[in-house]
Amino acid sequence: MSNEKQENKRTSRREFIQKSMRIGLGVGLTAVGGLAAFRVHAEDSVWQLDPFKCVACGRCADYCVMTPSAVKCVHAFDLCGYCDLCGGYLKPNSNARSTAAENQLCPTSAIRRKFVEEPYFEYEIEEDLCIGCGVCVKGCTAFGNGSLHLQVRHNLCVNCNECSIARVCPADAFQRVPASSPYLIKGEWTKDSKNKKQPPTE
Ligand code: SF4
Ligand code: SF4
Ligand code: SF4
Repeated sequence: MSNEKQENKRTSRREFIQKSMRIGLGVGLTAVGGLAAFRVHAEDSVWQLDPFKCVACGRCADYCVMTPSAVKCVHAFDLCGYCDLCGGYLKPNSNARSTAAENQLCPTSAIRRKFVEEPYFEYEIEEDLCIGCGVCVKGCTAFGNGSLHLQVRHNLCVNCNECSIARVCPADAFQRVPASSPYLIKGEWTKDSKNKKQPPTE
């Protein structure tokens, strides 16, 4: 097969993967959003953090009234480069690009690394293991596209009257958002002002 044909095949495969991932994330968040709407039906706003303001300081892990924190890492797959050398997954200067625990940046091994095809790898968050520490977010923002970011998960957040993380957030990233659109997700859809504060619906 010619190099051009191989490249086209890789590109379409990657586009397909990214589209599938986007839909997967969208379905997950729509379901969570539905739960949130159910839980806060008597209220019209909930707490959410702006991922463009967040500096991944670590306080989201330590100051939430919930243990572990209601703040979790989410992954905007359509921003991800599917990098082999992922700054959000691997420790700097790790011995090898492998899944060995000593190479992983995440303190709870909450990020799953899966081979897709040369040279692409997919990174998925296991939210049950995530403590919202933001270490991966810092790595991804410094060395990658910033596709890993934090969000308050509304199936876990009890929507405190005064969010204890908001009080200590050094970036003033916490704000009240409408309960009907409770996520501020990074990703392709945020380029469209119509969808700026909406999770994907497809
Ligand atoms: S406290 Fe603020 S800056 Fe720190 S991780 Fe949470 S949202 Fe980001
Ligand atoms: S509102 Fe309460 S439960 Fe929700 S993120 Fe803030 S401190 Fe945690
Ligand atoms: S590094 Fe921290 S924020 Fe990222 S997945 Fe692991 S526990 Fe969650």
